[in-house]
Amino acid sequence: MNETAAESGAISACNVCGTPAAPDFGMKTRIACYNCDAQDRHRCLKDAMDNGGLADAMALPGKTVLVCHLIKPELRLFAEAERLVNFNVRPLPGLELVMDIQEMSQIASGTVDGLIGIHVLNHVRDEARALSEVRRVLKAGGFFLSTVGYDAALPTQDITDQSRDYGAEALEKYAVGTYRKYNPDAYMAMLRAVMPSQPYLGRDPMTGIWQQSFLSRKP
Ligand SMILES: [Zn+2]
Repeated sequence: MNETAAESGAISACNVCGTPAAPDFGMKTRIACYNCDAQDRHRCLKDAMDNGGLADAMALPGKTVLVCHLIKPELRLFAEAERLVNFNVRPLPGLELVMDIQEMSQIASGTVDGLIGIHVLNHVRDEARALSEVRRVLKAGGFFLSTVGYDAALPTQDITDQSRDYGAEALEKYAVGTYRKYNPDAYMAMLRAVMPSQPYLGRDPMTGIWQQSFLSRKP
C-alpha cells in the first residue's frame, strides 16, 4: 500500500496559498486546506501549472475566462487572468451568468479565450453535448482546462446514486448530479475526439498524491 505524505507525517504547505497544514490535516476525508479550501485536485493542478508547464500553456494574463462553478481556491489559481466569469446552471450566489455548460446559447460561437471546469464533466448528464458546446464557444486557439474524478485502475464507471453529492433538488431541477467516475485514458480519448488535448501531471505537496489535469485547445 502506498503511504501518503500525510500518513508518513511529511506534510508540507499548501501550494495554492502557502499556508502550512493544520495539525489535524489528513484526518478529514476531503483533505482541504483550512485556509484557502484547496483540495488535492487544486494542489495537483497548481503543481502542474508551476512545474509542469501548464500555466505557460494556458497563458492566462489578458484573457477573459469562463469558469463553471468557480470556488474560492480557484480565484487564487487563476488570478492571473484578466477576468474570471463565474457561471452555473444552478442560481447560486456570486454568479455572473446562469447558464448550462450543455447549452451555452447566451455565448456567441468563437468568442471565448478560455473555459475552465474543475470536476464539472462528471457532474453533467450529457458530457458529449457539454464538450461540443465548449468547442463551439471557444476562439481558435482558446483552451478548455478540466479535471474530473477518476480511477486509473478501472474502466469509466456510471454512478448509481447520482444525487449523492448535490442532493435530489439539484438532480431533478437542474440535472446536476454525480454521473460517473472516469478512467483517465478514456476521459483523455473523449477529449481528443473533440479537440487536441494533453494531460498534465501534478503532485499535491500535502498528501503526495499525483493527479492529472487536462488541457484541450480548439484548433
Ligand atoms: Zn491553501
